[in-house]
Amino acid sequence: EDAPVDGVLGGLDPEQRAAASVPDGPLLIVAGPGTGKTRTVTHRIAHLVLERDVPARECLAITFTRRAAEEMTERLETLVGAPGRDITVATFHSLGLTVLRERHALLDLPADFGVADAAEQHRILTEVAGDERAARRLRPAISRSRRGGAPEGSGSGADTENGATEPVEAGEVLPRYLAALRERGLVDYDDLLALPVHLLEFDEQVREEYQRRFRWITVDEYQDVDDLQYRMLRLLAPDDANLTAIGDPDQAIYAFRGADVRFFLRFQEDYPRAPVVWLTRNYRSGRHIVAGALRAIRPSSLVADRGLHPMRTDSDQRIHLHRAADERAEAAYVARTIDQLLGGTSLHSLDSGRVEGDGDGRISFSDIAVLYRTDAQSRAVLDELGRCGFPAQKRSHDPLTARSGVEHIMRELTHTSTVSPAGDGPVVDRVRGAAEAFLATLSERDRAESAAMVHGAVELLTPLAERCGTDVARFCHEVLLGAEVDAIDPRADAVSLLTLHAAKGLEFPVVFIVGCADSLLPLRWPGAELGDDAFAEERRLCFVGMTRAQDHLYLTHAARRTRHGETREMRPSPFLTELRDMPQAVASENAPARPRRAAHQLSLL
Ligand code: ATP
Ligand code: MG
Repeated sequence: EDAPVDGVLGGLDPEQRAAASVPDGPLLIVAGPGTGKTRTVTHRIAHLVLERDVPARECLAITFTRRAAEEMTERLETLVGAPGRDITVATFHSLGLTVLRERHALLDLPADFGVADAAEQHRILTEVAGDERAARRLRPAISRSRRGGAPEGSGSGADTENGATEPVEAGEVLPRYLAALRERGLVDYDDLLALPVHLLEFDEQVREEYQRRFRWITVDEYQDVDDLQYRMLRLLAPDDANLTAIGDPDQAIYAFRGADVRFFLRFQEDYPRAPVVWLTRNYRSGRHIVAGALRAIRPSSLVADRGLHPMRTDSDQRIHLHRAADERAEAAYVARTIDQLLGGTSLHSLDSGRVEGDGDGRISFSDIAVLYRTDAQSRAVLDELGRCGFPAQKRSHDPLTARSGVEHIMRELTHTSTVSPAGDGPVVDRVRGAAEAFLATLSERDRAESAAMVHGAVELLTPLAERCGTDVARFCHEVLLGAEVDAIDPRADAVSLLTLHAAKGLEFPVVFIVGCADSLLPLRWPGAELGDDAFAEERRLCFVGMTRAQDHLYLTHAARRTRHGETREMRPSPFLTELRDMPQAVASENAPARPRRAAHQLSLL
């Protein structure tokens, strides 16, 4: 069955090929992590365009983040060549933005409407809610009410610190907030879905136009669609549409943001004609990592009886469990292990008492990710990596516009484009021009200091600018949209620091999950109990994190943690309990995290 196959589908295994070559109509692909779902759907689109004469411009591929969209765009251009550029690869939000830009008049929006970034939204909310504290408190509830409601009891690393929300009050503030937004000619992030859905629901002609335009739709990470996204899809893709949904219910991790895995589970009711294809071969991770991850997810698995067979025969590192004395020691363990993986030379000058490295020198910083449940946990790791002189990059919760340099460029750019007519020259050149223009306004000394920062910002913007061609307005909008997604550069020679949520869909040769402790993973307030659904979602989050690893997986936790000035003893994460019964796949470490300190500070997990 593994006989070579010509053409685009040649890069797929027989299961994947069967999925990619389903002729038309709705299709559901269900499969575990690392089974090539994203790869399969990319090849399916290439196959349709190259070998089935589907016009590229009729293809719409929906991804979960802008980074995923960029990666898919690149893959499609490689597979399909120039016509691949006519394929629309979008997130739900950028698709919504496209619809709004094309149909703003029908919604009474000005042609030059803007998208409010987090800071702007906060300013407006503060104004209508009375004060900053109220604004902060109400924002999640307002957003949730507009997305159609979400289960309570869970939260992202960013949201949980905010405490309770108050739906009733939010209901009162919402209309005033929206009015204030519109007065300024703005839409917010939630509008990017809510307004197009409203339009598509009520305007049959518009709906039919978009249905004709996007005859072939694929959605990756379908297990995490929310109510509005689901409605948008149902409107774009009626019952017999060529809609391919791909996902893994065991990786549903966005319920706190309104996603609902039940949309996935009822796909076949919505599209009764849809065949279901399962992929069962994992190409990403070594066999012990696959075995450990499956063990960790088992109690909550929604698709437990599926197979997930490790295909990698070249990778058989055991999973490492490590318990450190405190967060600093945990971070030191991460840095030391990185040093060893890199070949053990990097820390030489810092610490001559180091443990001999077993690294083969082929791993670089960009191969390494450190994942955590809450953003606050990144601090200790960042400090330690910094101390060792290891480059690191971290997803920022700040809007992209708050980044050094970006704001200046944007100001120059929008200033310039009022001066020169829209569509005047490629955006890339204009971004460079804006950067130079900004630097020219500075004194010589300031210029010397700012130049690196501004040029760094240009580099960060460049791929996006290239995709926007000559459309400056689109570029400005996209920069604002980027606020919500990770801005980590996969090519940078640096360790990536990410929340578990943001790591979805990605893969790294080396993965650390720090803070594998009860009350961090699962995340809950000390003493508080999690509901069953929230607990299961935390377990899935752990599963997502573990399955990002290709070759090396380290699960660490600190026996003591200080938070808000209070030191607490921490128990290991309950999700790892059963891993300890898998000695063939899992190694419990007792290597000293700080060699100059006494070993009694450490104990086995
Ligand atoms: P996730 O659930 O985490 O999103 P996924 O199912 O989308 O994972 P991919 O990211 O598409 O998985 O693929 C995982 C890895 O396996 C990638 O490095 C991919 O290139 C590789 N891979 C997938 N299919 C094959 C194949 N048939 N042959 C070789 N490598 C493959
Ligand atoms: Mg994927």
